[in-house]
Amino acid sequence: MLAIKNLVKTFPVRSGFGFSGPVQSVKALDGISFDVARGEALGLVGESGCGKSTTARAILRLTEPDGGEALFDGADLFKATGPDLRRLRRRLQIVFQDPYASLNPRRRIGDTLAEPMKVHGIAEAKEWPERVRALLAEVGLPAEAVHKYPHEFSGGQRQRIGIARALSVGPELLFLDEPVSALDVSVQAQVLVLLNKLREKRNLASVFISHDLGVVRYFCQRVAVMYLGRIVEEAPAEALLDTPLHPYTQALRAATPTPDPAHKVTMVRLTGDPASPLNPPPGCHFHPRCPHVMPRCKEEIPLLQEVAPGRRVACHLMDKT
Ligand code: SF4
Repeated sequence: MLAIKNLVKTFPVRSGFGFSGPVQSVKALDGISFDVARGEALGLVGESGCGKSTTARAILRLTEPDGGEALFDGADLFKATGPDLRRLRRRLQIVFQDPYASLNPRRRIGDTLAEPMKVHGIAEAKEWPERVRALLAEVGLPAEAVHKYPHEFSGGQRQRIGIARALSVGPELLFLDEPVSALDVSVQAQVLVLLNKLREKRNLASVFISHDLGVVRYFCQRVAVMYLGRIVEEAPAEALLDTPLHPYTQALRAATPTPDPAHKVTMVRLTGDPASPLNPPPGCHFHPRCPHVMPRCKEEIPLLQEVAPGRRVACHLMDKT
Protein backbone atom coordinates (compact mmCIF):
# COMPACT_ATOMS: atom_id res chain seq x y z
CA MET A 1 0.00 0.00 0.00
CA LEU A 2 2.78 2.44 0.97
CA ALA A 3 6.27 1.98 -0.47
CA ILE A 4 9.02 4.33 0.68
CA LYS A 5 12.28 4.21 -1.25
CA ASN A 6 15.51 5.94 -0.34
CA LEU A 7 13.89 8.87 1.52
CA VAL A 8 16.35 11.69 2.20
CA LYS A 9 15.82 14.88 4.18
CA THR A 10 18.43 17.44 5.21
CA PHE A 11 17.96 20.59 7.27
CA PRO A 12 20.20 23.66 7.10
CA VAL A 13 21.57 24.66 10.52
CA ARG A 14 23.40 27.88 11.30
CA SER A 15 25.96 27.56 14.09
CA GLY A 16 28.10 30.02 16.06
CA PHE A 17 27.37 32.88 18.46
CA GLY A 18 24.13 34.63 17.56
CA PHE A 19 23.69 32.01 14.81
CA SER A 20 26.02 34.04 12.61
CA GLY A 21 28.32 31.13 11.70
CA PRO A 22 28.40 29.09 8.51
CA VAL A 23 25.37 27.12 7.42
CA GLN A 24 25.82 23.38 7.90
CA SER A 25 23.44 20.68 6.89
CA VAL A 26 22.02 17.93 9.06
CA LYS A 27 21.04 14.74 7.29
CA ALA A 28 17.93 13.84 9.26
CA LEU A 29 16.97 10.99 6.92
CA ASP A 30 19.67 9.11 5.06
CA GLY A 31 18.01 6.74 2.58
CA ILE A 32 15.03 5.31 4.44
CA SER A 33 13.12 2.49 2.70
CA PHE A 34 10.15 0.47 3.97
CA ASP A 35 6.73 -0.83 2.94
CA VAL A 36 3.39 -0.93 4.73
CA ALA A 37 0.66 -3.37 3.67
CA ARG A 38 -3.07 -2.62 3.86
CA GLY A 39 -4.31 -3.09 7.43
CA GLU A 40 -0.76 -3.57 8.77
CA ALA A 41 0.82 -1.67 11.68
CA LEU A 42 4.53 -0.91 11.26
CA GLY A 43 6.38 0.36 14.33
CA LEU A 44 9.14 2.93 13.85
CA VAL A 45 11.35 3.02 16.93
CA GLY A 46 14.59 4.62 18.11
CA GLU A 47 15.96 7.31 20.42
CA SER A 48 14.85 10.95 20.20
CA GLY A 49 16.34 12.68 17.19
CA CYS A 50 16.81 9.51 15.12
CA GLY A 51 14.40 10.77 12.45
CA LYS A 52 11.16 8.91 13.27
CA SER A 53 8.87 11.94 13.25
CA THR A 54 10.74 13.53 10.33
CA THR A 55 10.00 10.37 8.33
CA ALA A 56 6.25 10.81 8.86
CA ARG A 57 6.35 14.56 8.18
CA ALA A 58 8.38 14.11 4.98
CA ILE A 59 6.06 11.39 3.63
CA LEU A 60 3.04 13.62 4.32
CA ARG A 61 4.96 16.59 2.91
CA LEU A 62 4.47 18.63 6.05
CA THR A 63 8.17 19.18 5.45
CA GLU A 64 9.38 18.78 1.85
CA PRO A 65 11.69 15.77 1.32
CA ASP A 66 15.00 16.23 -0.56
CA GLY A 67 14.94 12.91 -2.35
CA GLY A 68 13.41 9.49 -2.63
CA GLU A 69 10.07 8.10 -3.63
CA ALA A 70 6.83 7.54 -1.73
CA LEU A 71 4.27 5.44 -3.60
CA PHE A 72 0.79 5.15 -2.15
CA ASP A 73 -1.27 2.61 -4.08
CA GLY A 74 1.06 3.36 -6.98
CA ALA A 75 0.61 7.17 -6.87
CA ASP A 76 3.78 9.17 -6.22
CA LEU A 77 3.16 11.38 -3.17
CA PHE A 78 6.26 13.48 -3.86
CA LYS A 79 5.25 14.36 -7.43
CA ALA A 80 1.55 15.04 -6.73
CA THR A 81 0.37 18.66 -6.77
CA GLY A 82 -2.91 20.59 -6.42
CA PRO A 83 -6.11 18.52 -6.30
CA ASP A 84 -4.18 15.23 -6.75
CA LEU A 85 -2.13 15.95 -3.62
CA ARG A 86 -5.25 16.96 -1.68
CA ARG A 87 -6.99 13.71 -2.66
CA LEU A 88 -3.96 11.68 -1.55
CA ARG A 89 -3.66 13.60 1.73
CA ARG A 90 -7.21 12.71 2.59
CA ARG A 91 -6.21 9.05 2.52
CA LEU A 92 -3.19 9.53 4.82
CA GLN A 93 -3.69 11.27 8.16
CA ILE A 94 -1.59 11.91 11.25
CA VAL A 95 -2.26 11.87 14.99
CA PHE A 96 0.26 14.00 16.91
CA GLN A 97 1.91 13.35 20.26
CA ASP A 98 0.58 16.42 22.08
CA PRO A 99 -3.20 16.47 21.69
CA TYR A 100 -3.54 19.91 23.31
CA ALA A 101 -1.04 21.60 21.01
CA SER A 102 -2.65 20.02 17.94
CA LEU A 103 -6.16 21.36 18.72
CA ASN A 104 -7.26 24.97 18.28
CA PRO A 105 -8.04 26.15 21.85
CA ARG A 106 -10.60 28.71 20.60
CA ARG A 107 -12.60 26.32 18.53
CA ARG A 108 -15.43 24.08 19.74
CA ILE A 109 -14.85 20.37 19.16
CA GLY A 110 -17.81 20.13 16.77
CA ASP A 111 -16.21 22.73 14.48
CA THR A 112 -12.77 21.10 14.78
CA LEU A 113 -14.19 17.77 13.60
CA ALA A 114 -16.33 19.26 10.82
CA GLU A 115 -13.51 21.39 9.38
CA PRO A 116 -11.64 18.54 7.56
CA MET A 117 -14.94 17.44 5.95
CA LYS A 118 -15.44 20.99 4.72
CA VAL A 119 -11.87 21.23 3.36
CA HIS A 120 -12.08 17.88 1.55
CA GLY A 121 -15.68 18.33 0.38
CA ILE A 122 -16.98 15.27 2.23
CA ALA A 123 -20.79 14.93 2.34
CA GLU A 124 -23.21 17.87 2.43
CA ALA A 125 -23.01 20.48 5.20
CA LYS A 126 -26.30 19.32 6.70
CA GLU A 127 -24.83 15.85 7.24
CA TRP A 128 -21.77 17.07 9.17
CA PRO A 129 -23.39 17.28 12.66
CA GLU A 130 -24.55 13.67 12.42
CA ARG A 131 -21.13 12.54 11.16
CA VAL A 132 -19.41 14.43 13.99
CA ARG A 133 -21.66 12.72 16.57
CA ALA A 134 -20.88 9.32 15.03
CA LEU A 135 -17.14 10.05 15.18
CA LEU A 136 -17.36 11.06 18.83
CA ALA A 137 -19.24 7.85 19.64
CA GLU A 138 -16.65 5.83 17.73
CA VAL A 139 -13.81 7.21 19.90
CA GLY A 140 -15.82 6.86 23.12
CA LEU A 141 -16.85 10.48 23.76
CA PRO A 142 -20.36 11.77 24.50
CA ALA A 143 -22.35 13.76 21.92
CA GLU A 144 -22.30 16.88 24.19
CA ALA A 145 -18.56 17.19 23.49
CA VAL A 146 -19.41 19.07 20.27
CA HIS A 147 -20.17 22.22 22.28
CA LYS A 148 -17.01 22.15 24.40
CA TYR A 149 -13.48 23.55 24.00
CA PRO A 150 -10.22 21.53 24.23
CA HIS A 151 -9.36 22.81 27.75
CA GLU A 152 -12.53 21.17 29.10
CA PHE A 153 -11.16 17.67 28.40
CA SER A 154 -8.50 15.46 30.01
CA GLY A 155 -5.34 14.50 28.09
CA GLY A 156 -6.76 11.11 27.12
CA GLN A 157 -10.03 12.65 25.90
CA ARG A 158 -8.12 15.23 23.88
CA GLN A 159 -6.15 12.45 22.21
CA ARG A 160 -9.47 10.74 21.37
CA ILE A 161 -10.54 14.01 19.72
CA GLY A 162 -7.25 14.06 17.77
CA ILE A 163 -7.98 10.51 16.58
CA ALA A 164 -11.58 11.44 15.64
CA ARG A 165 -10.30 14.40 13.61
CA ALA A 166 -7.88 12.13 11.71
CA LEU A 167 -10.73 9.65 11.05
CA SER A 168 -13.15 12.36 9.91
CA VAL A 169 -11.95 12.18 6.28
CA GLY A 170 -11.98 8.36 6.09
CA PRO A 171 -8.20 7.71 5.85
CA GLU A 172 -6.69 4.37 4.85
CA LEU A 173 -3.36 4.90 6.60
CA LEU A 174 -2.63 6.69 9.89
CA PHE A 175 0.72 8.01 11.08
CA LEU A 176 0.57 7.76 14.86
CA ASP A 177 3.38 9.96 16.17
CA GLU A 178 3.98 8.92 19.81
CA PRO A 179 0.19 8.97 20.29
CA VAL A 180 0.23 7.80 23.91
CA SER A 181 3.59 8.95 25.28
CA ALA A 182 2.17 12.16 26.80
CA LEU A 183 -0.55 10.23 28.69
CA ASP A 184 -0.67 8.49 32.08
CA VAL A 185 -0.02 4.75 31.90
CA SER A 186 -3.64 3.70 32.60
CA VAL A 187 -4.92 6.14 29.98
CA GLN A 188 -2.27 4.94 27.52
CA ALA A 189 -3.74 1.44 27.72
CA GLN A 190 -7.28 2.72 27.01
CA VAL A 191 -6.16 4.75 23.98
CA LEU A 192 -4.13 1.82 22.64
CA VAL A 193 -7.13 -0.50 22.95
CA LEU A 194 -9.23 2.10 21.09
CA LEU A 195 -6.64 2.44 18.31
CA ASN A 196 -6.48 -1.33 17.95
CA LYS A 197 -10.27 -1.61 17.68
CA LEU A 198 -10.40 1.15 15.08
CA ARG A 199 -7.62 -0.53 13.11
CA GLU A 200 -9.54 -3.78 12.94
CA LYS A 201 -12.92 -2.20 12.26
CA ARG A 202 -11.71 0.12 9.50
CA ASN A 203 -8.88 -2.12 8.19
CA LEU A 204 -6.55 0.84 8.76
CA ALA A 205 -2.84 0.62 8.03
CA SER A 206 -0.60 2.54 10.38
CA VAL A 207 2.94 3.71 10.98
CA PHE A 208 3.30 3.77 14.76
CA ILE A 209 6.15 6.00 15.94
CA SER A 210 7.34 5.30 19.46
CA HIS A 211 10.35 4.90 21.72
CA ASP A 212 8.43 2.43 23.91
CA LEU A 213 9.05 -1.17 22.81
CA GLY A 214 6.31 -2.52 25.11
CA VAL A 215 3.71 -0.39 23.37
CA VAL A 216 5.09 -1.34 19.95
CA ARG A 217 4.91 -5.05 20.81
CA TYR A 218 1.22 -4.66 21.64
CA PHE A 219 0.26 -2.66 18.56
CA CYS A 220 2.55 -3.56 15.66
CA GLN A 221 3.02 -6.58 13.43
CA ARG A 222 6.37 -5.36 12.11
CA VAL A 223 9.02 -3.03 13.52
CA ALA A 224 11.79 -0.93 11.95
CA VAL A 225 14.55 0.42 14.21
CA MET A 226 16.15 3.76 13.29
CA TYR A 227 19.51 5.16 14.33
CA LEU A 228 20.74 8.59 13.20
CA GLY A 229 18.53 8.77 10.12
CA ARG A 230 18.97 5.19 8.92
CA ILE A 231 16.99 1.98 9.42
CA VAL A 232 19.33 -0.54 11.09
CA GLU A 233 16.94 -3.48 11.58
CA GLU A 234 13.47 -4.43 10.40
CA ALA A 235 11.59 -7.62 11.24
CA PRO A 236 8.26 -9.07 12.41
CA ALA A 237 7.61 -7.55 15.87
CA GLU A 238 7.94 -10.75 17.85
CA ALA A 239 11.20 -11.83 16.19
CA LEU A 240 12.76 -8.39 16.52
CA LEU A 241 11.84 -7.97 20.17
CA ASP A 242 12.59 -11.56 21.28
CA THR A 243 15.80 -12.10 19.30
CA PRO A 244 17.17 -8.73 18.18
CA LEU A 245 20.14 -9.09 15.82
CA HIS A 246 21.55 -5.57 15.47
CA PRO A 247 23.67 -4.48 18.48
CA TYR A 248 21.65 -1.25 18.75
CA THR A 249 18.34 -3.13 18.79
CA GLN A 250 19.83 -5.45 21.43
CA ALA A 251 20.70 -2.41 23.56
CA LEU A 252 17.21 -0.94 23.17
CA ARG A 253 15.68 -4.28 24.06
CA ALA A 254 17.96 -4.74 27.09
CA ALA A 255 16.83 -1.34 28.39
CA THR A 256 13.16 -2.39 28.29
CA PRO A 257 11.77 -4.26 31.34
CA THR A 258 10.26 -7.65 30.59
CA PRO A 259 7.28 -8.97 32.57
CA ASP A 260 8.47 -12.58 32.22
CA PRO A 261 11.53 -13.29 34.44
CA ALA A 262 12.13 -16.55 32.58
CA HIS A 263 12.68 -14.62 29.36
CA LYS A 264 16.42 -14.04 28.96
CA VAL A 265 17.53 -10.85 27.26
CA THR A 266 21.09 -10.30 25.99
CA MET A 267 22.46 -7.44 28.06
CA VAL A 268 24.29 -4.84 26.02
CA ARG A 269 25.88 -1.89 27.72
CA LEU A 270 26.26 1.14 25.49
CA THR A 271 29.15 3.50 26.07
CA GLY A 272 29.12 7.15 25.02
CA ASP A 273 26.33 9.41 23.89
CA PRO A 274 24.54 9.26 20.55
CA ALA A 275 26.67 11.02 17.92
CA SER A 276 25.68 14.48 16.76
CA PRO A 277 23.63 14.40 13.55
CA LEU A 278 25.67 17.48 12.54
CA ASN A 279 28.78 15.36 12.43
CA PRO A 280 27.79 11.68 12.22
CA PRO A 281 30.60 9.12 12.45
CA PRO A 282 31.71 7.63 9.11
CA GLY A 283 30.90 4.06 8.17
CA CYS A 284 28.37 2.59 10.59
CA HIS A 285 26.90 5.55 12.53
CA PHE A 286 26.65 3.30 15.58
CA HIS A 287 30.35 2.29 15.69
CA PRO A 288 31.51 4.65 18.53
CA ARG A 289 28.99 2.95 20.88
CA CYS A 290 29.06 -0.59 19.55
CA PRO A 291 30.59 -3.34 21.73
CA HIS A 292 31.35 -5.41 18.60
CA VAL A 293 33.00 -2.68 16.52
CA MET A 294 35.54 -3.90 13.90
CA PRO A 295 37.98 -1.83 11.81
CA ARG A 296 35.76 -1.95 8.70
CA CYS A 297 32.79 -0.56 10.69
CA LYS A 298 34.60 2.80 10.87
CA GLU A 299 34.84 3.10 7.09
CA GLU A 300 32.17 1.05 5.37
CA ILE A 301 28.44 1.78 5.65
CA PRO A 302 26.67 -1.54 6.39
CA LEU A 303 23.85 -2.11 3.93
CA LEU A 304 20.38 -3.12 5.06
CA GLN A 305 20.29 -6.69 3.82
CA GLU A 306 17.85 -9.57 4.14
CA VAL A 307 19.15 -12.13 6.64
CA ALA A 308 15.96 -14.22 6.89
CA PRO A 309 12.55 -14.00 5.18
CA GLY A 310 11.03 -10.62 6.16
CA ARG A 311 14.04 -9.68 8.26
CA ARG A 312 16.63 -7.04 7.30
CA VAL A 313 19.70 -5.94 9.27
CA ALA A 314 22.40 -3.34 8.56
CA CYS A 315 25.46 -4.67 10.38
CA HIS A 316 28.79 -6.09 9.19
CA LEU A 317 28.46 -8.89 11.74
CA MET A 318 25.75 -10.35 9.50
CA ASP A 319 28.28 -10.89 6.69
CA LYS A 320 29.86 -13.69 8.73
CA THR A 321 26.64 -15.62 9.13
FE1 SF4 B 1 28.58 -2.64 15.42
FE2 SF4 B 1 30.00 -2.79 13.19
FE3 SF4 B 1 27.55 -3.80 13.28
FE4 SF4 B 1 27.91 -1.19 13.30
S1 SF4 B 1 28.41 -2.58 11.63
S2 SF4 B 1 26.53 -2.34 14.57
S3 SF4 B 1 29.76 -1.01 14.50
S4 SF4 B 1 29.35 -4.49 14.42
